[in-house]
Amino acid sequence: MLQGKTALITGSTSGIGLASAHVLAEQGINLVLHGLMSDKEGASLAREFSDKYQIKTLFDNANLMDSDAISVFMTKAIKTMGSIDILINNAGIQHTEAVDTFPENKWNAIIAINLTAAFHTTQHSLAGMKENSWGRIINIASVHGLVASKNKAAYCAAKHGIVGFTKVVALECAEHGITANAICPGWVDTPLINDQITDIAKKENSSFEQAKYQLITAKQPLPEMMDPRKIGEFILFLCSDSARSITGSSLPMDGAWTAQ
Ligand code: NAD
Repeated sequence: MLQGKTALITGSTSGIGLASAHVLAEQGINLVLHGLMSDKEGASLAREFSDKYQIKTLFDNANLMDSDAISVFMTKAIKTMGSIDILINNAGIQHTEAVDTFPENKWNAIIAINLTAAFHTTQHSLAGMKENSWGRIINIASVHGLVASKNKAAYCAAKHGIVGFTKVVALECAEHGITANAICPGWVDTPLINDQITDIAKKENSSFEQAKYQLITAKQPLPEMMDPRKIGEFILFLCSDSARSITGSSLPMDGAWTAQ
């Protein structure tokens, strides 16, 4: 059913986005790959996917802090691929610091990349989805879209924001066969969290692995990091017809973090 559809995944050069791209490509879904790498590296990544999975691919490295660049990127993606059937707003960054000293430039970057970019990509994608009476919008939020942690003011604001945004899109699009959901992961094994682990290791004079375990178990009852592929598999389910009535939901994959 999904073969031949096109998915656009922001931030698919690393971590959750890259792992999810492989899961979708295995089903014959064409891909718009995106993230911060050079044109040369991106072209090589796109070629790797099209050769391995026999799918159509496109790569772009638009900086999501720049709304004009997003507009150029989305226009090119839609023109090249026909329409975006599955939009996965995944790209994100993190900075941890107390509110008192949280740098304004970090605040602005986190809000722009983790929240505002999803508004722009969604706006660009909706016309094609409505025309086809089918679409899937999946926003990679976080447990921090549902609960807070110290030192994550901008990240929590952005992730709570995207949970709210997802609900509005779901309401406005329900009658068009378009679903919008937010996935709210706990700890996922990707480069995004390396700085947080390194900070703990320095503070506690412990190894990277010890610090990683400490970080996980401070809040998450399941004492392990999730394999990013599992998020891709959940995305695939949300794209299936079985999930047609799941919309407007914020879906935790968090090892019981938010059950407490
Ligand atoms: P990652 O660092 O591995 O990947 C981030 C991706 O975003 C990369 O492809 C990068 O190039 C892209 N990106 C960053 N800044 C960008 C910019 N200015 N313009 C364009 N692209 C940019 O991170 P990840 O862990 O895979 O995170 C993916 C999403 O999952 C994020 O939204 C993150 O908040 C969320 N998340 C991660 C975890 C976790 O534990 N790793 C937990 C919950 C939610």
